[in-house]
Amino acid sequence: MSRVAVVTGGGSGMGESTCHELGRRGHKVAVLDLDEAAAQRVADDLRADGVTAVGIGADVTDRQVMADSFATVRSELGPTTILVTSAGLFGFSPFVDLRIEDWERVIAVNLTGTFHACQLAVPDMLDAGWGRIIMISSSSAQRGSPEMAHYAASKGGVVSLTRSLAREYAPHGITVNNIPPSGIETPMQHQQQAAGILPPTEQMAANIPIGHLGTGDDIAAMVGFLSSDEAGFITGQTIGVNGGAVM
Ligand code: NAP
Repeated sequence: MSRVAVVTGGGSGMGESTCHELGRRGHKVAVLDLDEAAAQRVADDLRADGVTAVGIGADVTDRQVMADSFATVRSELGPTTILVTSAGLFGFSPFVDLRIEDWERVIAVNLTGTFHACQLAVPDMLDAGWGRIIMISSSSAQRGSPEMAHYAASKGGVVSLTRSLAREYAPHGITVNNIPPSGIETPMQHQQQAAGILPPTEQMAANIPIGHLGTGDDIAAMVGFLSSDEAGFITGQTIGVNGGAVM
């Protein structure tokens, strides 16, 4: 069955891979990203593959912009019944030097941005009596990350948000899960490597039981399954896609 999917952070990395996976599954896809040109590029690529798609430039921290974006999706594609929140911002600082503005921005993008997207999508899902929410969290929420307290705390909030929404909306046919990635080759990971925050790829791979890093497609495959009818008995879960890095 063809549904309408919104993917925040859909202009890059695992969000972009997810847009293509959902398109392959026959869904209409709204690509939301801070980088409007990236959102349009991904939407163009989807349309070239025969997928009905729109690209929208939207900062997930801006409630009015997000409300307008969901209204655009509703008028151009229809009501949203699949939501994937992949927009994210990493940060790096020794805890005692962490500036309040950096704490607030990371929480705003990773946690409050996820809140806005969920709150704007749920009414359509309630009307449909069916919904799938898949949030991208982080292995930082599972095991902590030195000098990334704000990032790990924001993603821990996403894990708790998953569980609360899962309990609240299970009776309405809406499932809510999160995927905490680790070691996925994306522009964000490459930026962290370039900044010396993450070690080189070979060193990272040595710490992953499966022996290599993952790709956006690895995450997209799990998102695709969790967004399906077949995954209807899975909710409130944190499902790692990480090559065994966290067990
Ligand atoms: P990515 O390639 O950088 O994709 C993230 C996308 O989110 C970018 O297009 C970025 O736009 C967009 N974005 C950032 N701030 C935004 C905002 N305020 N509003 C709307 N869009 C915004 O990184 P990725 O690795 O695919 O990350 C996807 C998610 O996975 C993130 O939530 C990240 O925290 C999480 N994650 C990734 C890994 C990993 O191994 N890669 C590990 C753990 C968790 P700009 O490029 O314009 O900033």
